Amino acid sequence: MIGSVVIVGGGIAGLSTAAALRSGGFVGDITLVDASEFPYDRPPLSKEFLAGTKRLTEISLQPPQWYDDQKVRLVSNSKVTALRPSIGEVELFDGTTIPADRVVLATGGRAARPPIPGSQDARVHVLRTATDAERLRAALQPGARLLVVGAGLIGAEVASTAVDLDCEVALVDPLRPPLTHAVGSEIAAWLHDLHIRRGVVSVRSGVESLRATPSGIEAHLTSADRPREFDVVVLGVGMVPETTLAETAGLEVDRGIVVDRTQTTSNPAVLAVGDPARVRDGGALLPRTEHWEAAQRDGQRAAATILGAPPPADTAPWFWTDRHHVHVEVVGDMAAAERTVLRGTVGDVKFSAFGLTGGRVVGAVAVNDSTAVRAARRLIDRGIVVDTARLTDPATDLRQLLLG
Ligand SMILES: Cc1cc2nc3c(=O)[nH]c(=O)nc-3n(C[C@H](O)[C@H](O)[C@H](O)COP(=O)(O)OP(=O)(O)OC[C@H]3O[C@@H](n4cnc5c(N)ncnc54)[C@H](O)[C@@H]3O)c2cc1C
Repeated sequence: MIGSVVIVGGGIAGLSTAAALRSGGFVGDITLVDASEFPYDRPPLSKEFLAGTKRLTEISLQPPQWYDDQKVRLVSNSKVTALRPSIGEVELFDGTTIPADRVVLATGGRAARPPIPGSQDARVHVLRTATDAERLRAALQPGARLLVVGAGLIGAEVASTAVDLDCEVALVDPLRPPLTHAVGSEIAAWLHDLHIRRGVVSVRSGVESLRATPSGIEAHLTSADRPREFDVVVLGVGMVPETTLAETAGLEVDRGIVVDRTQTTSNPAVLAVGDPARVRDGGALLPRTEHWEAAQRDGQRAAATILGAPPPADTAPWFWTDRHHVHVEVVGDMAAAERTVLRGTVGDVKFSAFGLTGGRVVGAVAVNDSTAVRAARRLIDRGIVVDTARLTDPATDLRQLLLG
């Protein structure tokens, strides 16, 4: 009988584990330990929170009352420093111990800091936490010269928010266009063009070094002979999974905490969910998924494992990004498509692209069209062979395709 669960980390993965345990009927103790002031949501950190249009309390994952209602003991501003699965407890930084028949590691990660000389300067930022976002926002004054290194999801969103804040933005990335693997070449090119149309200077380059000068930070780009000066630099080059606890507890770690399809680690009393979890499927280690909904689903799966309940149904992976006032959603795997077809015209207020293999939808990208993505997800999940002419006709109600 499992009487106590300790969840380490109060991001979406940790919170969804707690919620799913309670909704699944778990009556034992749930303790959620989180290093921050209170559990908050991360996607707004590059969007509304960075723009200053939402405060921290407005991006909390749950209102304070929720923890009481759900009988979840929240230990904020704290850290788990040791796992002792063999005796069923965890230890906090102050030496307190908490009983834990099961531990769920929902420890997220930290922003990567590549070894670029000069990148330790205080004007060189990363973005993972609310504190990072607050510091960055203070630096993004109107007219500030901002260099964003990396045009992936977070770099692109920071560039977009900074344009809204009247900064002068340059974006460097060695890939052109970035995100091709995720959204296909046509939409990747259009998304990248949006930056340029909004006045962002886009440079295809890496960064060799950064150097503090009396008036700013000089960036030496691999593609340019002469350095350029900026006031602020943001490194948007990915994240590093937080695996320290797992490693010190002797769990299997391989660029992520290795779990099976039930989120169980190499120790059956410890599960891992969200950004740091890496699934082994058969013999193969899959890439980690660093998206919000995947983290939420991991939590639901971990709860099912603890409850001995059937796991939630698998569904095609989904994520979104917002930039330059367009909302982009991606479902499935565009990289697995044999060919891509468009519904609508790239650049319209709303349009979408579908990746097809053997007549079935395997991935979709939609701009300002959540309905298309919802339908695509069901088409993918059900493996329905689609009539391409109807799929690409904006007049077709995509739900009709679900009927076959
Ligand atoms: C700026 C930004 C924008 C994003 N935008 C999008 C988006 O638009 N769409 C999308 O799909 N995804 C987005 N993501 C990704 C998404 O937010 C993450 O995939 C998701 O937050 C992962 O949740 P998590 O619970 O695994 O980890 P996290 O949210 O990182 O939470 C982990 C928590 O664990 C705590 N912790 C770590 N170690 C300990 C310890 N030892 N003791 C106690 N607490 C500990 C940390 O303090 C943290 O609060 C974005 C991410 C960032 C950073």
